Amino acid sequence: MIAGMYLHPWDLFDDGPKVVFDNIVDRAGLNSVNLATTYHGGPPFRGGFFLPHNLKRRLYIPEAGVVYFKPHLELYRNTRLKPILSRQLSGFDALGVATEEAERRGVSVSSWTICSRNERLAAENPEFATENIFGLRDPTWLCPNNPDAREYLLALLEDITSNYRVDGLELESLGFGTVMPPPRGLVVDRIVGRLLTLCFCEACRRAARDAGYDWEAMAGAAKAIMKVYLDLEPEVWDAISRGAFSTPSFTEIERQVEGLSRFEEFQSETILQCLKDVRDRIRRSRRKVKIAFPMDLSLPLKRLQGIVDNFMISPQGPQQLKHQAAILRFIVPWAGIQVGFNLLPGTYNLSPGIVDALKSEGVDTINFYNYGNAHQKCFDAIKMALEPIRPLIKR
Ligand SMILES: [Zn+2]
Repeated sequence: MIAGMYLHPWDLFDDGPKVVFDNIVDRAGLNSVNLATTYHGGPPFRGGFFLPHNLKRRLYIPEAGVVYFKPHLELYRNTRLKPILSRQLSGFDALGVATEEAERRGVSVSSWTICSRNERLAAENPEFATENIFGLRDPTWLCPNNPDAREYLLALLEDITSNYRVDGLELESLGFGTVMPPPRGLVVDRIVGRLLTLCFCEACRRAARDAGYDWEAMAGAAKAIMKVYLDLEPEVWDAISRGAFSTPSFTEIERQVEGLSRFEEFQSETILQCLKDVRDRIRRSRRKVKIAFPMDLSLPLKRLQGIVDNFMISPQGPQQLKHQAAILRFIVPWAGIQVGFNLLPGTYNLSPGIVDALKSEGVDTINFYNYGNAHQKCFDAIKMALEPIRPLIKR
């Protein structure tokens, strides 16, 4: 079993590899580090990270959309987007430091990579960002259908996997989305929230037409549903915003409007293709690199065989873990299960019951979120909690 811990580069920068790996490997008894190699931050990110045991500071506010390794720029020759090094950490090569220390200690490193979400590159290069239903470019999100944005992501992942000793890739925020707060004054329920993540850019229009979709029907359907909301009385907006009654889900509405379900399908196909491209590109690495992706049931997961190795879940307890594992075994019996444990106050989910379930459900990988935010005592608590499955956690 891979048993790792999420690590932000600023903690490695401040504490140094010896202290960090002593805590993760010796004290917590883990055999892997899941390092953020790209990370989000900046507006509209709220607040920073409270660091209870960091040797240099108590609070860190990360920069938006920078990388924490030394990029090989020749790999980015086919995209106009170029990686930007962290200025706050003086271009610190966290991945280089982590992989060297990991090799010395015989433990593995996974690259936790933020993909389409990028508040820096999207804000500075709106032509590569998603275009929302109101025709505005989203300053927080790169469109996965945009050729420069797609190639940037592929180059980034090739760079990480072929130039560093990395055994896994955890892909976060790959696809369509936004981290913009809802527009002030607009009533946003589940339907409108999802409508705000549809992309209407020229690259999407072209990709949809090339794949045989009727773009006008899809875009028209989405805008027609939006208009239903815009035409509601202000009293209704007010009641929805107060949660006075529940409105249908996006899936329920999508079933009623063919254009909308085709739009949803087109976006799923884009994500599938993007993941296939990632798998093809990282084949250039000499190592076998495992890809972990969220258990996103809006995607046809079966079709990710040979592409994604592990699906990630974050169960609240053993019962939910067993339920999610059963669903995954039913849909994708070939896939590994990756369980996330949360160490943030108010979200602890580590218990003797869940540790038993890791064994009975044959969980492949576990990861604790995260090194910097955890209390010091968590390292000892993890080691003790994992004692019953210690023989499974090999170096
Ligand atoms: Zn687009």
